[in-house]
Amino acid sequence: MGNTLEGQVAIVTGAGRGIGEAIAQEFVNRGARVAVVSRTEANSQKSAAALNALRADSARPYAVDVADFEAVQKAGEQILADFGRCDILVNNAGITRDTLAMRMSSEDWDVVLDTNLKGAFNFSRAVMRAMVKQRGGRIINISSVSGLLGLAGQANYAASKAGLIGLTKAIARELAGRNITANVVAPGFIETDMTSVLSEDVRKGALAQIPQARMGRPEDVAAAVAFLASPQAAYITGQVLAVDGGMSM
Ligand code: NDP
Repeated sequence: MGNTLEGQVAIVTGAGRGIGEAIAQEFVNRGARVAVVSRTEANSQKSAAALNALRADSARPYAVDVADFEAVQKAGEQILADFGRCDILVNNAGITRDTLAMRMSSEDWDVVLDTNLKGAFNFSRAVMRAMVKQRGGRIINISSVSGLLGLAGQANYAASKAGLIGLTKAIARELAGRNITANVVAPGFIETDMTSVLSEDVRKGALAQIPQARMGRPEDVAAAVAFLASPQAAYITGQVLAVDGGMSM
Protein backbone atom coordinates (compact mmCIF):
# COMPACT_ATOMS: atom_id res chain seq x y z
CA MET A 1 0.00 0.00 0.00
CA GLY A 2 2.46 2.63 -1.21
CA ASN A 3 -0.18 5.34 -1.47
CA THR A 4 -1.72 5.19 1.97
CA LEU A 5 -1.44 8.20 4.27
CA GLU A 6 -2.71 6.26 7.28
CA GLY A 7 -1.78 7.94 10.57
CA GLN A 8 -0.40 11.07 8.91
CA VAL A 9 -1.38 14.65 9.65
CA ALA A 10 -1.75 17.19 6.85
CA ILE A 11 -2.26 20.95 6.84
CA VAL A 12 -4.08 22.18 3.74
CA THR A 13 -4.45 25.95 3.33
CA GLY A 14 -7.36 27.28 1.31
CA ALA A 15 -9.20 24.05 2.04
CA GLY A 16 -12.54 25.78 2.61
CA ARG A 17 -13.53 25.22 -1.02
CA GLY A 18 -12.26 24.46 -4.52
CA ILE A 19 -8.97 22.67 -5.10
CA GLY A 20 -7.95 22.77 -1.42
CA GLU A 21 -11.18 21.10 -0.36
CA ALA A 22 -10.63 18.33 -2.93
CA ILE A 23 -7.06 17.83 -1.68
CA ALA A 24 -8.27 17.56 1.93
CA GLN A 25 -10.90 15.03 0.86
CA GLU A 26 -8.34 12.92 -1.02
CA PHE A 27 -6.08 12.94 2.07
CA VAL A 28 -8.93 11.82 4.33
CA ASN A 29 -9.86 9.08 1.84
CA ARG A 30 -6.26 7.86 2.10
CA GLY A 31 -6.35 7.75 5.91
CA ALA A 32 -4.82 11.09 6.94
CA ARG A 33 -6.18 13.66 9.40
CA VAL A 34 -6.38 17.21 8.10
CA ALA A 35 -6.10 20.73 9.51
CA VAL A 36 -8.47 22.67 7.27
CA VAL A 37 -7.19 26.24 6.95
CA SER A 38 -9.06 29.03 5.23
CA ARG A 39 -9.60 32.73 5.66
CA THR A 40 -13.34 32.61 6.33
CA GLU A 41 -14.37 30.71 9.44
CA ALA A 42 -17.68 29.52 7.95
CA ASN A 43 -15.89 27.94 4.97
CA SER A 44 -13.26 26.10 7.01
CA GLN A 45 -15.99 24.85 9.39
CA LYS A 46 -18.23 23.65 6.57
CA SER A 47 -15.38 21.85 4.84
CA ALA A 48 -14.13 20.24 8.09
CA ALA A 49 -17.67 19.10 8.91
CA ALA A 50 -17.98 17.44 5.49
CA LEU A 51 -14.64 15.64 6.07
CA ASN A 52 -15.73 14.49 9.53
CA ALA A 53 -18.91 13.09 7.95
CA LEU A 54 -16.66 11.12 5.58
CA ARG A 55 -14.59 9.80 8.50
CA ALA A 56 -15.13 10.72 12.15
CA ASP A 57 -12.45 12.94 13.76
CA SER A 58 -10.56 13.34 10.51
CA ALA A 59 -10.53 17.15 10.36
CA ARG A 60 -10.44 20.39 12.37
CA PRO A 61 -11.10 23.92 11.02
CA TYR A 62 -8.74 26.90 11.44
CA ALA A 63 -9.61 30.39 10.24
CA VAL A 64 -6.39 32.28 9.58
CA ASP A 65 -5.10 34.79 7.03
CA VAL A 66 -2.02 33.08 5.55
CA ALA A 67 -0.52 36.50 4.74
CA ASP A 68 -0.23 37.35 8.45
CA PHE A 69 3.13 35.98 9.69
CA GLU A 70 2.35 36.15 13.43
CA ALA A 71 -1.14 34.68 13.03
CA VAL A 72 0.24 31.79 10.97
CA GLN A 73 3.00 30.98 13.52
CA LYS A 74 0.28 30.88 16.21
CA ALA A 75 -2.01 28.73 14.05
CA GLY A 76 0.91 26.37 13.36
CA GLU A 77 1.56 25.98 17.11
CA GLN A 78 -2.14 25.35 17.71
CA ILE A 79 -2.33 22.73 14.94
CA LEU A 80 0.78 20.95 16.26
CA ALA A 81 -0.74 20.98 19.76
CA ASP A 82 -4.10 19.69 18.49
CA PHE A 83 -2.75 16.91 16.23
CA GLY A 84 0.62 16.21 17.86
CA ARG A 85 2.52 16.30 14.57
CA CYS A 86 2.55 17.55 10.95
CA ASP A 87 3.66 15.28 8.13
CA ILE A 88 2.31 17.12 5.10
CA LEU A 89 1.88 20.83 4.34
CA VAL A 90 -0.01 21.92 1.23
CA ASN A 91 0.23 25.65 0.56
CA ASN A 92 -2.83 26.03 -1.64
CA ALA A 93 -4.47 29.29 -0.48
CA GLY A 94 -4.42 31.78 -3.32
CA ILE A 95 -6.17 34.74 -4.86
CA THR A 96 -6.22 36.69 -8.13
CA ARG A 97 -6.51 40.46 -8.74
CA ASP A 98 -6.27 40.41 -12.52
CA THR A 99 -5.65 43.54 -14.55
CA LEU A 100 -3.06 44.79 -17.02
CA ALA A 101 0.26 45.73 -15.39
CA MET A 102 -0.20 49.25 -16.72
CA ARG A 103 -3.32 49.66 -14.56
CA MET A 104 -2.30 47.51 -11.60
CA SER A 105 -2.40 49.24 -8.20
CA SER A 106 0.24 48.80 -5.55
CA GLU A 107 -2.47 47.23 -3.36
CA ASP A 108 -3.35 44.68 -6.09
CA TRP A 109 0.31 43.73 -6.25
CA ASP A 110 0.84 43.49 -2.49
CA VAL A 111 -2.25 41.49 -1.58
CA VAL A 112 -1.58 38.84 -4.23
CA LEU A 113 2.13 38.49 -3.40
CA ASP A 114 1.42 38.50 0.35
CA THR A 115 -1.25 35.80 0.08
CA ASN A 116 0.14 33.52 -2.62
CA LEU A 117 3.89 33.73 -2.00
CA LYS A 118 4.48 35.06 1.50
CA GLY A 119 1.59 32.89 2.74
CA ALA A 120 3.46 29.77 1.60
CA PHE A 121 6.65 30.97 3.31
CA ASN A 122 4.70 31.76 6.48
CA PHE A 123 3.19 28.29 6.82
CA SER A 124 6.39 26.50 5.79
CA ARG A 125 8.23 28.49 8.44
CA ALA A 126 5.58 27.52 11.01
CA VAL A 127 5.97 23.74 10.55
CA MET A 128 9.49 23.15 9.21
CA ARG A 129 11.07 22.79 12.64
CA ALA A 130 8.50 20.16 13.65
CA MET A 131 9.16 18.25 10.41
CA VAL A 132 12.92 18.35 11.05
CA LYS A 133 12.36 17.01 14.60
CA GLN A 134 10.09 14.27 13.23
CA ARG A 135 12.78 13.43 10.68
CA GLY A 136 10.43 13.63 7.74
CA GLY A 137 7.80 15.63 5.93
CA ARG A 138 6.29 16.79 2.67
CA ILE A 139 5.74 20.36 1.51
CA ILE A 140 3.66 20.81 -1.63
CA ASN A 141 3.08 24.28 -3.03
CA ILE A 142 0.28 25.00 -5.48
CA SER A 143 1.59 27.22 -8.26
CA SER A 144 -0.11 27.74 -11.64
CA VAL A 145 0.40 27.51 -15.37
CA SER A 146 0.52 31.32 -15.09
CA GLY A 147 3.74 31.03 -13.09
CA LEU A 148 5.27 28.99 -15.90
CA LEU A 149 3.95 30.96 -18.89
CA GLY A 150 3.26 34.44 -17.47
CA LEU A 151 -0.35 34.94 -18.57
CA ALA A 152 -1.35 38.47 -19.67
CA GLY A 153 -3.36 40.38 -17.07
CA GLN A 154 -1.71 38.46 -14.25
CA ALA A 155 1.64 40.19 -13.59
CA ASN A 156 1.07 39.99 -9.82
CA TYR A 157 -0.33 36.46 -9.87
CA ALA A 158 2.29 35.12 -12.34
CA ALA A 159 5.09 36.65 -10.24
CA SER A 160 3.70 35.08 -7.06
CA LYS A 161 3.31 31.67 -8.70
CA ALA A 162 6.77 31.75 -10.33
CA GLY A 163 8.15 32.86 -6.96
CA LEU A 164 6.66 29.77 -5.36
CA ILE A 165 8.82 27.61 -7.63
CA GLY A 166 12.02 29.34 -6.44
CA LEU A 167 10.87 29.14 -2.82
CA THR A 168 10.13 25.43 -3.19
CA LYS A 169 13.50 24.60 -4.76
CA ALA A 170 15.41 26.52 -2.07
CA ILE A 171 13.49 24.74 0.70
CA ALA A 172 13.93 21.39 -1.09
CA ARG A 173 17.71 21.88 -1.03
CA GLU A 174 17.76 23.07 2.59
CA LEU A 175 15.74 20.09 3.85
CA ALA A 176 16.78 17.30 1.46
CA GLY A 177 19.10 15.77 4.04
CA ARG A 178 16.31 15.75 6.63
CA ASN A 179 14.02 13.39 4.75
CA ILE A 180 11.73 16.29 3.83
CA THR A 181 10.68 16.83 0.21
CA ALA A 182 9.30 20.04 -1.30
CA ASN A 183 7.54 20.05 -4.66
CA VAL A 184 5.22 22.16 -6.76
CA VAL A 185 1.97 21.26 -8.48
CA ALA A 186 1.09 23.71 -11.25
CA PRO A 187 -2.56 23.44 -12.28
CA GLY A 188 -3.91 24.83 -15.54
CA PHE A 189 -7.55 25.99 -15.80
CA ILE A 190 -9.58 24.15 -13.16
CA GLU A 191 -13.36 24.46 -12.56
CA THR A 192 -13.64 26.37 -9.24
CA ASP A 193 -15.00 29.69 -7.91
CA MET A 194 -11.74 31.29 -9.07
CA THR A 195 -12.40 30.50 -12.74
CA SER A 196 -16.21 30.77 -12.61
CA VAL A 197 -15.86 34.58 -12.70
CA LEU A 198 -13.97 34.56 -16.02
CA SER A 199 -15.79 35.99 -19.04
CA GLU A 200 -16.92 33.69 -21.86
CA ASP A 201 -14.22 35.23 -24.09
CA VAL A 202 -11.41 34.51 -21.61
CA ARG A 203 -12.75 30.97 -21.15
CA LYS A 204 -12.79 30.35 -24.92
CA GLY A 205 -9.28 31.79 -25.25
CA ALA A 206 -8.01 29.51 -22.47
CA LEU A 207 -9.66 26.40 -23.91
CA ALA A 208 -8.01 27.12 -27.27
CA GLN A 209 -4.61 26.85 -25.55
CA ILE A 210 -5.31 23.51 -23.86
CA PRO A 211 -4.37 20.48 -26.00
CA GLN A 212 -6.99 18.37 -24.18
CA ALA A 213 -9.55 21.13 -24.96
CA ARG A 214 -11.25 21.00 -21.57
CA MET A 215 -10.87 22.46 -18.13
CA GLY A 216 -9.63 20.27 -15.29
CA ARG A 217 -11.44 19.28 -12.09
CA PRO A 218 -10.21 19.89 -8.53
CA GLU A 219 -9.90 16.08 -8.20
CA ASP A 220 -7.31 16.04 -11.02
CA VAL A 221 -5.08 18.33 -8.94
CA ALA A 222 -5.81 16.46 -5.70
CA ALA A 223 -4.60 13.16 -7.22
CA ALA A 224 -1.23 14.70 -8.16
CA VAL A 225 -0.83 16.28 -4.71
CA ALA A 226 -1.69 12.99 -2.99
CA PHE A 227 0.92 11.20 -5.08
CA LEU A 228 3.63 13.70 -4.09
CA ALA A 229 2.55 13.32 -0.45
CA SER A 230 2.68 9.52 -0.61
CA PRO A 231 5.56 7.23 0.38
CA GLN A 232 5.89 6.36 -3.34
CA ALA A 233 7.21 9.88 -4.04
CA ALA A 234 10.00 9.77 -1.43
CA TYR A 235 12.78 10.29 -4.01
CA ILE A 236 11.10 13.24 -5.79
CA THR A 237 12.06 16.72 -4.58
CA GLY A 238 12.32 20.23 -6.03
CA GLN A 239 10.10 19.32 -8.98
CA VAL A 240 7.21 21.00 -10.76
CA LEU A 241 4.33 18.76 -11.81
CA ALA A 242 1.92 20.45 -14.24
CA VAL A 243 -1.70 19.30 -14.14
CA ASP A 244 -3.01 21.28 -17.07
CA GLY A 245 -4.22 19.11 -19.96
CA GLY A 246 -0.95 19.82 -21.74
CA MET A 247 -1.28 23.63 -21.66
CA SER A 248 2.28 24.40 -20.52
CA MET A 249 4.21 21.83 -22.55
P1 NDP B 1 -10.83 29.31 -4.73
O1 NDP B 1 -10.96 30.78 -4.97
O2 NDP B 1 -11.95 28.41 -5.13
O3 NDP B 1 -10.49 29.04 -3.17
C1 NDP B 1 -9.43 29.72 -2.58
C2 NDP B 1 -9.19 29.22 -1.19
O4 NDP B 1 -8.07 29.94 -0.65
C3 NDP B 1 -10.35 29.46 -0.26
O5 NDP B 1 -10.48 28.39 0.64
C4 NDP B 1 -9.94 30.73 0.46
O6 NDP B 1 -10.48 30.88 1.76
C5 NDP B 1 -8.45 30.53 0.58
N1 NDP B 1 -7.77 31.80 0.80
C6 NDP B 1 -7.68 32.88 -0.01
N2 NDP B 1 -6.99 33.85 0.58
C7 NDP B 1 -6.62 33.40 1.79
C8 NDP B 1 -5.89 33.95 2.87
N3 NDP B 1 -5.37 35.19 2.82
N4 NDP B 1 -5.71 33.18 3.98
C9 NDP B 1 -6.22 31.94 4.07
N5 NDP B 1 -6.92 31.36 3.06
C10 NDP B 1 -7.12 32.09 1.95
O7 NDP B 1 -9.48 28.91 -5.45
P2 NDP B 1 -9.07 27.56 -6.22
O8 NDP B 1 -9.51 26.38 -5.47
O9 NDP B 1 -9.44 27.72 -7.64
O10 NDP B 1 -7.48 27.70 -6.16
C11 NDP B 1 -6.68 27.06 -5.19
C12 NDP B 1 -5.22 27.30 -5.53
O11 NDP B 1 -4.95 26.79 -6.83
C13 NDP B 1 -4.83 28.77 -5.56
O12 NDP B 1 -3.53 28.94 -5.06
C14 NDP B 1 -4.85 29.10 -7.04
O13 NDP B 1 -4.01 30.17 -7.34
C15 NDP B 1 -4.38 27.79 -7.62
N6 NDP B 1 -4.74 27.61 -9.01
C16 NDP B 1 -6.06 27.57 -9.39
C17 NDP B 1 -6.38 27.40 -10.71
C18 NDP B 1 -7.80 27.36 -11.21
O14 NDP B 1 -7.99 27.30 -12.44
N7 NDP B 1 -8.81 27.33 -10.38
C19 NDP B 1 -5.35 27.27 -11.74
C20 NDP B 1 -4.00 27.31 -11.22
C21 NDP B 1 -3.73 27.46 -9.91
P3 NDP B 1 -12.01 31.35 1.96
O15 NDP B 1 -12.88 30.28 1.42
O16 NDP B 1 -12.14 31.48 3.40
O17 NDP B 1 -12.15 32.62 1.18
